[in-house]
Amino acid sequence: MKKIGLFLLLLISSFSFLKADEGMWIPLFIEKYNIEQMQQKGFKLTAKDIYDVNQASIKDAVMIFGGGCTAELISDKGLILTNHHCGYSRIQAHSSIENDYLTDGFWAGSMEEELSNPGLTVTFLVYMEDVTERVMSVFNENMSMTIRQIKIDSVCTVIESEIEKKHNDKYEALVESFFYGNQYIVMVTEVFRDIRLVGAPPSSIGKFGGDTDNWVWPRHTGDFSLFRIYADKNNQPADYSPDNVPYKPKKYFTIDISGIKEGDFTMIFGYPGYTQQYIPSFTIDNIINMENPDKIAIRDIRLQIINKAMQADRKTRIMYAAKQSSIANGWKKWIGQNIGLKRINIIKQKQEYELKFQQWADASDDRNIYKNLLSDYEKLEQEIKTYQKAQYYFIECIYYTDVWDIYYPIYKKIDEIDKTTDIDKIDSLKQNALTAAENLLKDFDAVIDKEIFNEMMKLYFNNLDKEFYPAFYSKIQTDFNGSIEEYVDFLYENSILVDKTKLKDFINGFYNGNTKYKKKNKDKALYTMNDFSNDPYVVLFNDFRSVYTYQILPHFGKMVDIRDSLDHLYMQGQMKMEPDKIFYPDANFTLRIAYGSVKGFRPKDGLIYDYYTTLDGVIEKDNPEIYDYNVPEKLKKLYYAKDFGNYANEEGKMPVCFIADNHTSGGNSGSPVINAKGQLIGINFDRCWESTMSDIEFDPNYCRNITLDIRYVLFIIDKFAGAGYLLDEMTIVKE
Ligand code: ASP
Repeated sequence: MKKIGLFLLLLISSFSFLKADEGMWIPLFIEKYNIEQMQQKGFKLTAKDIYDVNQASIKDAVMIFGGGCTAELISDKGLILTNHHCGYSRIQAHSSIENDYLTDGFWAGSMEEELSNPGLTVTFLVYMEDVTERVMSVFNENMSMTIRQIKIDSVCTVIESEIEKKHNDKYEALVESFFYGNQYIVMVTEVFRDIRLVGAPPSSIGKFGGDTDNWVWPRHTGDFSLFRIYADKNNQPADYSPDNVPYKPKKYFTIDISGIKEGDFTMIFGYPGYTQQYIPSFTIDNIINMENPDKIAIRDIRLQIINKAMQADRKTRIMYAAKQSSIANGWKKWIGQNIGLKRINIIKQKQEYELKFQQWADASDDRNIYKNLLSDYEKLEQEIKTYQKAQYYFIECIYYTDVWDIYYPIYKKIDEIDKTTDIDKIDSLKQNALTAAENLLKDFDAVIDKEIFNEMMKLYFNNLDKEFYPAFYSKIQTDFNGSIEEYVDFLYENSILVDKTKLKDFINGFYNGNTKYKKKNKDKALYTMNDFSNDPYVVLFNDFRSVYTYQILPHFGKMVDIRDSLDHLYMQGQMKMEPDKIFYPDANFTLRIAYGSVKGFRPKDGLIYDYYTTLDGVIEKDNPEIYDYNVPEKLKKLYYAKDFGNYANEEGKMPVCFIADNHTSGGNSGSPVINAKGQLIGINFDRCWESTMSDIEFDPNYCRNITLDIRYVLFIIDKFAGAGYLLDEMTIVKE
């Protein structure tokens, strides 16, 4: 072994521990790494109570909700709880001016009234298994990244199909990479497909405070909604059927309404999506000084247009509600992230760490592979800038547009018609395409969209180099006097994709050139794939697609591959440099545990944030003039009558939210917040603004997750909605 100087050893050991309560831990390793510390903090159960493959454990009551949230079971009849913002697009899809569930809330009076949600799934983790050795055995560090990836992908496919076969395809298996390809774990999951909406408060409770309060403490949002899992008569996953029955779970949460106090143990069990705790200063520099400010500026413009339109018209407010929320969510998070990371001077912190890493790498010959790592990163992050910028401009300005969302599914549908040789099938395929057109344009307003697209095009052309301009750009110069606005006018006047009637006419008259069909329909206006390809919006998208495929992706993709291999090595180096530190892997939307305690904080000099809020704060914010702060009359009545049922705190106040220092991320929305006895005390739904930086750096002084107190959930269901019958199927304790 090489000798390392005492000074260096001291340096290394001085950063060999994690900051308090940082970390998102893998349930499989809780026994080994965390349970002792959890118990010291007050946790009363064992690691097996959390995760066990042989008998029911808490993990069986937690699942992925849809594509990006978490939910938990709260009854033996498959009743599940998640956030209002997680169920939002479903609630919106069921809403209309006549049945405005966003504004008025929705409560199914009985199981028959619960609303089905095509496409919505929940996913349970059945078990996970460490397959690192098997995956690692197929590659070595000398192989190029491309070859390595091919080998990894193929062994992972083998592992996955072996497992699926073993279970007769009852479960799905997916090998996930952890620590940037330094560990591999296979996730075996079961997906349920009949999920029905049971209840949701009005947005004036479930989204109270709107964008103004989003990511902010103190918070008063009743962010919850209720769904139910249905299964077939054998309790197995099934497509929607009126014959399905409520799912009988292995495990569901007992709800504790005895309340919380500062310092209490809390645990979050859920699916954090994406974090980057181990990346170097160079990558962070690009994020906070280039990507975040640009994306914030792009979304600023979109939001200004959408917000104005939503304020002016009630129908628009319903139509654009879900879109607006998702645009605003990222926008505000990035703003907070930048403020937070700059305040703690993350670049300097990372640079200091990198200096130590360099010294460690230089101190021994057997660390040669790490010696140029940081300078390679520095070079790469300089080179990648141009393409990274082109990539996110393409995504934000072109790909994330409503018309792209219409274009692609419509293209797929008519392509199917185009390819079919069976002319008897054409009518039913057309019917599918017509239904798709109806749904896709349901929440689309061409006037608003045109205003947005005009601005997106200007941003794209004003901020990127000519090498990223699509072919039609020269047409703007020659045929439209160089005016983007004139060109966009032309697009919206002539494209079938922005006009429901035109699009339906087109689908009705679409055929694949079949002469028999043509003869049979000779009195009808007929269209072919050629007409579709000549639609001006389709031309635009195809030109942009070529730019992305040939000008951006090959360069950007190659550099991302290089970055992946550097990340892999850097992670490995960091773990070798600090062999005694217990690392947790970055979030990758796999099941994790975070634990900590209920705690207030000081966001600024001279300002102290309490750890909980109450209904008093809702009333303080009440302002009928402002949509987001318009408190429902019934809630005010309950407040003034102090009619809080069994749910008030010791001071007789109605608790709403609380904060704790659990390390969470996007995807943890809807996660159960669990007390020391494994009971449900709330639903995680957000972080404080000062905390959004925790995706890159968790600072225990500022990072707090926000939980909706379960007592407020029950109070709203019981007292506000009069849906107390739902409480009958829950197990509620007060100790
Ligand atoms: N609001 C986030 C979510 O939707 C949670 C978070 O980022 O803390 O998952």
